[in-house]
Amino acid sequence: MTEINLQSIKQVNRNRVFRLIAARQRISKQEIAAELKLSLPTTTQNLNSLKDEGLIEENGTFSSGIGRKARAVSIVADFRVAVGLDITPHHISLVLVDLNGSMMDHVREKFEIADSELCYGQLAEKVRNLIDKNKIRPEQILGMGITIPGIIAFDKKTITSAETLPVPSNFCQILQEYFDFPCLLFNDASCAGVAEFWKNDYENQTIAYLLLSNTVGGAILVNGKPFEGMGNRSAEFGHITLVPGGAECSCGKRGCAEAYCSALCLSRKTDNDLAVFFREMNRGKEEYRKLLEEYLDYLAILLNDINMCLDCPVVLGGYMGPYLKPYIPRLSQLVVERSTFPTDGSYIKPCTCEFEAAAMGGALYHIEQFIKNV
Ligand SMILES: [Zn+2]
Repeated sequence: MTEINLQSIKQVNRNRVFRLIAARQRISKQEIAAELKLSLPTTTQNLNSLKDEGLIEENGTFSSGIGRKARAVSIVADFRVAVGLDITPHHISLVLVDLNGSMMDHVREKFEIADSELCYGQLAEKVRNLIDKNKIRPEQILGMGITIPGIIAFDKKTITSAETLPVPSNFCQILQEYFDFPCLLFNDASCAGVAEFWKNDYENQTIAYLLLSNTVGGAILVNGKPFEGMGNRSAEFGHITLVPGGAECSCGKRGCAEAYCSALCLSRKTDNDLAVFFREMNRGKEEYRKLLEEYLDYLAILLNDINMCLDCPVVLGGYMGPYLKPYIPRLSQLVVERSTFPTDGSYIKPCTCEFEAAAMGGALYHIEQFIKNV
């Protein structure tokens, strides 16, 4: 066996050990050795090198069993952190994420994005405030993932199109000037899908993520990675035509799914507040119940279209995701009636990453890149 092969096996083992500790949060050396089918000396060697670099630490003992208690190890979750910044026309969300993929802190506030030095300076200050508030040292920060409702070029820096945001195509490079850590740009729906994949056991599966917010977007995740397509704009589910010549869409065309399935279809009745819409409806407001029934009918068409193309689980995310959970049985019934092929509709999945999924996904990109190279 060549030197290079030996080195790469060592690297792979070390990475597997680190990932297992991260997944279990607390585990003993003996369990690691058994689970990864490694010898105890090899496991010890890997644990020592990870510990020496500050990536893992001892974390008490396991009390069960007889004889010597097994010592537990955990990863040092804040050894490295990443920032996620989600930008919509009137709001920003900021999250700080550790190596466990857990949200350490977050900020969501109204912010009118504009193409001005003042606006960029304020944005940078908000990022710095979050970092300072959490006492994060510069060497801990892996980078920032910025997510927007738009199409991003393959360089992960240039905006190809983002009609709802008044910023130039080099927006990411402008923000980069304010920071020493790398800033990368992503599509919001793709990142929300990445965050969903991270939180669930979808290993070796393809999933579709349907982002139902004020716009409708999506992502197709193959083994956790967004399928990019030829122009990095796959899974634009919101602009599938549902009703030829129908309602006007934000893209300027008529009859797109977004015009029938965005959260605004319901929340425009209640001053953009979905919680109020559902509360009023549950209190018996007939007009809202009918509106929701109509919404579910259109959503079922879209879900069936996606299922006919991809035949994979479809996660309902975005602002609507949490509100749609009680209506999944109804949606299943509707897609069963519509489907050409036998299905029980169980491909429709609720989202589990309900909060700041896009910003989380932006940060998780940097976390994943780091863990890949541990
Ligand atoms: Zn459209």
